[in-house]
Amino acid sequence: MSETGYLNVAEIFGENVFNDAVMQERLPKKVYKKLKEVIQEGRELDLETADVVAHEMKEWAIEKGATHYTHWFQPLTGVTAEKHDSFITAPMENGKVLMSFSGKELIKGEPDASSFPSGGLRATFEARGYTAWDCTSPAFVRQDAAGATLCIPTAFCSYTGEALDQKTPLLRSMEAINEQALRLVRLFGNTTSKRVTPSVGPEQEYFIVDRQKYLQRKDLIFTGRTLFGAMPPKGQEMDDHYFGAIRERIAAFMKDVNEELWKLGVSAKTQHNEVAPAQHELAPIYAQANIAVDHNQLVMETLKKVAGRHGLQCLLHEKPFAGVNGSGKHNNWSITTDDGINLLEPGKTPHENVQFLLVLTCILKAVDKHADLLRESAADVGNDHRLGANEAPPAIVSVYLGEQLQDVLSQLISTGEATHSLAGQKLETGVKTLPDFMKDATDRNRTSPFAFTGNKFEFRMVGSQDSIAQPNVVLNTIVAEAFAEACDVLEKADDFDMAVHDLIKEYATEHQGIVFNGNGYSDEWVAEAERRGLPNIRSMVDAIPALNTEKSVKLFEKFKVFTKAELDSRVEIEYETYSKEINIEARAAIDIATKQIIPAVIKYTTVLAESITSVKAACGADVSAQTEILTQVSSLLADSKKALAKLQEVTEKAAEMEEGRDQAVYYRDEVKTAMDELRAPIDKLEMLVDKSMWPMPSYGDLLFEV
Ligand code: ADP
Ligand code: MG
Repeated sequence: MSETGYLNVAEIFGENVFNDAVMQERLPKKVYKKLKEVIQEGRELDLETADVVAHEMKEWAIEKGATHYTHWFQPLTGVTAEKHDSFITAPMENGKVLMSFSGKELIKGEPDASSFPSGGLRATFEARGYTAWDCTSPAFVRQDAAGATLCIPTAFCSYTGEALDQKTPLLRSMEAINEQALRLVRLFGNTTSKRVTPSVGPEQEYFIVDRQKYLQRKDLIFTGRTLFGAMPPKGQEMDDHYFGAIRERIAAFMKDVNEELWKLGVSAKTQHNEVAPAQHELAPIYAQANIAVDHNQLVMETLKKVAGRHGLQCLLHEKPFAGVNGSGKHNNWSITTDDGINLLEPGKTPHENVQFLLVLTCILKAVDKHADLLRESAADVGNDHRLGANEAPPAIVSVYLGEQLQDVLSQLISTGEATHSLAGQKLETGVKTLPDFMKDATDRNRTSPFAFTGNKFEFRMVGSQDSIAQPNVVLNTIVAEAFAEACDVLEKADDFDMAVHDLIKEYATEHQGIVFNGNGYSDEWVAEAERRGLPNIRSMVDAIPALNTEKSVKLFEKFKVFTKAELDSRVEIEYETYSKEINIEARAAIDIATKQIIPAVIKYTTVLAESITSVKAACGADVSAQTEILTQVSSLLADSKKALAKLQEVTEKAAEMEEGRDQAVYYRDEVKTAMDELRAPIDKLEMLVDKSMWPMPSYGDLLFEV
């Protein structure tokens, strides 16, 4: 706090990060220079340098109150993992201990890998694994009630080098796009840029509910979403929540979240209410892809942690409430050179525009060819409730370009030339008949899964609780492939200008089917997409096979992002994850229905029956109302019991099946369906039973009383 009582953001920003400024200040000049080179050129850190860095890092962390350090990594469970070690050494003869942290401990750790998902890799290779510092993502100190810990962002691999995490393939894919994008810019005469990096800015949606109410809902506790719940009298139809004034309790929570994130160097920038009641969004300023992935994990962790302190609960599930909009993440993605040139920025000169159009049509080609992989990268169990349900993009991948770019593309396709621009701006015809155009960010189409928004693409399918690593791995790699194929042609061309012109026309023509600028929520689009032959993959279970098709293996092996074994293992893990999560949901539903809801309904029927008998006996009055309700409730109760028995039966059967695709399909087709069939009569009962007897807070209580 400053003297005025206001938070000095500039002062606290990054105060818990071992960032460039800290390193420059604390490390000997030579060591700092060495480390910077390693970071910039992606080389390996030698032990001697690591020792010095580790020592300074420890001293700095201890000043921040840290007693422990951890390699902070992202296994394939979707959340981060850590194993804490304290800095203390074995007691010396005088009974005292020293605080120590070596270079070896900094660059390499050995968590027990056997408890993390590894798919087939566990059977084939050694279960143990190691974590290695990703020195391009700075270390940080996390302070909370449990004390302070130095966190070192790391990649997690098996001893034979297979990636067991989200980070390793991400770093590999960044290398791939760097290499191919550099080839491309060199062709356009750029000799100065040294590195090309994908930049990512994820917008994070979430729900906030009261923690006391949350604790009365076992479904939320165990599965993150409500498994039962009738719609409240008021939903989101009034649209009065979106961008509405932020309530005080929420505002206080957000203030704390921002402060925590700023200290961790996360540039939380925008915050506002979302469409659904109790739903909000937080977006940081974009950063290079691996840092953005780490930061997004920190954002999710921080939202949950700080919510708890305010007596609130943050729900990151994609669909916590049926009938109310769910949460997602918009993954904003662009590619930038180290000297600040965004390859997705339409240029100022016709020459720059040619490069831009080549990049753009390469991306069209990449997305068209690998739509299945992009779709898969956004698949998680919760997202099955959202995609294609008229609140989030459909499960069909298409690209939105906006009117102006679409017009340029149409000209290219029909005449091979683009000579005018729709922008109404001055038209400048350049070397090879391509117009210059202004960036057009005003035309926003919220229904498109992959939209060009001025100088970046916005991939809008990602689920709210999922890591953004995989979508970016896919984006980086498929675009690297398209760049590589373009460069293969252009590097051999006799007349470069002619060749690039032809290539842009070819890509635009061949891949125009992936472009769709209309309403992605409409039924017409589903039919039209089918005519165009675009895949419409509705569920996670059907999305998974895209990972290890021949096409996918060829792509990822070519750019050394995944081996076939790694892809196979991920396929296995995803089926397992799907089955496990649905199994937990089913068991939670059975538990809640059996122990809470059915007993409550029985009690209510007893109350009704007693009322009927006693009213009748007292005065012989008309008891038809009570009788009608009793009949209705009893009949729904019978339906519930029957549906419950069915759910129990299929859940048991599913659990006995062998792990793998068939089991996942069974969970989706049988168990999920049985859950829906149990929910239907129970939601009707909630509307009939005395509210004081219903065993948990309602949607109305959760959504409108925060
Ligand atoms: P909107 O809701 O209008 O889409 P927001 O401001 O909520 O926009 O979020 C936009 C996100 O896109 C932010 O995280 C922002 O930093 C990010 N972003 C902006 N420019 C780029 C870029 N060139 N590359 C990647 N991300 C970007
Ligand atoms: Mg936004």
